[in-house]
Amino acid sequence: MDLYAGFDLGGTYLKYGVIDTQGRVLQDETVNTPDSVEELFVLLETVWDTIWSGHRSNIKGVGFGFPGIFHSREQRIIQSPNCPQIDGYALVPSLEKFINVPFFLDNEANYAAYGEHKIGAGKGAQSLVLLTIGTGIGTGIILNGQLWQGSCGFAGELGHVTVNPKGEKCRCGNRGCLETEVSSQKIVNCYKQFRKSEEDLAAEEIARRALNGDEAALQTYSQVGSYLGIGLSIIINLLNPEKILLGGGVMESGECLLPAAFEEAKRRSYAASYDCCLIEQTELGNKAGFIGAALWARDQITKPRS
Ligand SMILES: [Zn+2]
Repeated sequence: MDLYAGFDLGGTYLKYGVIDTQGRVLQDETVNTPDSVEELFVLLETVWDTIWSGHRSNIKGVGFGFPGIFHSREQRIIQSPNCPQIDGYALVPSLEKFINVPFFLDNEANYAAYGEHKIGAGKGAQSLVLLTIGTGIGTGIILNGQLWQGSCGFAGELGHVTVNPKGEKCRCGNRGCLETEVSSQKIVNCYKQFRKSEEDLAAEEIARRALNGDEAALQTYSQVGSYLGIGLSIIINLLNPEKILLGGGVMESGECLLPAAFEEAKRRSYAASYDCCLIEQTELGNKAGFIGAALWARDQITKPRS
């Protein structure tokens, strides 16, 4: 039985797993992301050894999803705001030392969009945009049934599109990016501001308070949601996609965030384009990245040669 492995590196966690040719998950693991790139590659080698010894020669290929601006021709991350330890690092030579099957690299949100398109909430859609909203915002785009990577691989960086010119400084160097205005940290900061308190609460607690009618929490989700709505309207007016899929940790509080987001998106989009776009939650959840990476490896290896 042919199997494929996938890796999804985030600023906080490294997720990885093994799937069969149908995309069924046979192994699913999460570990903390190491602080240095050297430690990261030691970890990747250790993990690979366990995958290889567990499934032997059935593993036919691997996909590695990395966060940040991935240069497809040079096969390296140019800039990763949420995982700066991999900036500019020569990923391919480091992986070649221990990966003994064909492997593929890309931005992790691209792979997540590919996974949802192949076997998740985007199955059958010819055009979709996926947003994963957590510490940062990842974006992947499917157009005409294909992953749209851009001319150099840099497409799908909606997280770093300006939605508030006077907003806070982003880790990418810009100011008021969608990612700075709609993230778990923004929810925490915004709530402190509205509540006039320095107490740090987790975003999940703030969501609970919003559902219980806490005024400052409601104001927080109204503000953060409306910035998300601006982001959605940009996607809708630019691409007129069949679907927008929303995932990531912040979407666990979707019922707090989405009413303001939908209202703002509707207000700022062409009505015709808004009305024919389905906005849904992802199906594969936080597994989408590694599943999509493994499916990408499967499809690259098994596609007919032209
Ligand atoms: Zn940015």
